Amino acid sequence: MKIAVLAGDGIGPEIIEQALKVLDVLRKDGLALELEHAPYGGAGYDAYGDPLPEGTLKLAQEADAVLCGAVGGPQYDKLPRAQRPEQGLLRIRKALGLFANLRPALAFEELAGASSLKTELVAGLDVLIVRELTGDIYFGEPRGRRNNAEGECVAYDTMLYSESEIRRIAEVAFGLALKRGKKLTSVDKENVLETSRLWREVVKETAKRYPQVELSHMYVDNAAMQLARAPKQFDVIVTGNMFGDILSDEASMLTGSIGMLPSASLDSNNKGLYEPAHGSAPDIAGKDIANPLATILSAAMMLRYTFEMEQEAARVEAAVKRVLAQGCRTADIYEAGTRKVGTAEMGDAVVAALRA
Ligand code: NAD
Repeated sequence: MKIAVLAGDGIGPEIIEQALKVLDVLRKDGLALELEHAPYGGAGYDAYGDPLPEGTLKLAQEADAVLCGAVGGPQYDKLPRAQRPEQGLLRIRKALGLFANLRPALAFEELAGASSLKTELVAGLDVLIVRELTGDIYFGEPRGRRNNAEGECVAYDTMLYSESEIRRIAEVAFGLALKRGKKLTSVDKENVLETSRLWREVVKETAKRYPQVELSHMYVDNAAMQLARAPKQFDVIVTGNMFGDILSDEASMLTGSIGMLPSASLDSNNKGLYEPAHGSAPDIAGKDIANPLATILSAAMMLRYTFEMEQEAARVEAAVKRVLAQGCRTADIYEAGTRKVGTAEMGDAVVAALRA
């Protein structure tokens, strides 16, 4: 099991180090994990003038999974677009054909007080948002600007989905729902959009192959409201790129801190890129205060989805839960009565809980 490790920039190296400590425990327990590091993002630009150097891409292509920290930083903000760190991420997603983005919104009971919603609404929340990642209005052509008949500038984008693009993301979502609570909500805007009409048709057609999964459809505006009103009604949500972009950020805030949220982006063979949902947090980089749990939980997702090691994934998640139950908190999730720890200490605590 070969893993490409791309630590990236800002807090990236610090949080990745903690995830690697965790994987090391599993390795010592007999898991055949092979890790190889490569520069990426701003670090790639610094080393090779490219946010996704050739060697890094090759390593990612050869590996079974990619574990990323985060990219970006103010020192790169004035670079031409093609050299910006974020381009490294977009290019690697494209090169690896990662079309399915999985964003769990998991509210640990111990952190329910950190949510912006009432504790009883979020305690025990476990929603998985499956977002299509390579189609929709972000990639549809034509796009651009032109002058209209009155000489006024108009700008336009194209929302576009093909049947096969919808079918493959629907297949992923049904497959995941089958392994979880067997409930799938497909989110669209079928009352207004042609793309959504096709989306709904294809999702319904796909559902015939998954009779065990209870399928429902919801308009995106209602889904945004329901996520804030009663988020525990959902199990798996599947939606297009733009709706998923917005809803997954909304769902992430239900859980309290962005420092807790893992993510996975998968191809059609479950090869995946795993990374925390947050960015490189340059404001706190190098201070040993970043929360490494999103990255550690991303490593757990890697064990589950790419390596199909449910037991090991659950073991890592249980260790995180134990550490939270013990009262360990990084600054972003700290509250009175708990014990504030740094990035490395949090990593050590998860390692100790894994060994216990
Ligand atoms: P960010 O997620 O890096 O930070 C937002 C806020 O959350 C900051 O106050 C930060 O300190 C805090 N935060 C983030 N992660 C944290 C953690 N693990 N523990 C504690 N606090 C944490 O978003 P931003 O400030 O908008 O962006 C910073 C840089 O990251 C930019 O260059 C941006 O382009 C990049 N970015 C990269 C990715 C990625 O690599 N996938 C995603 C988003 C943003």
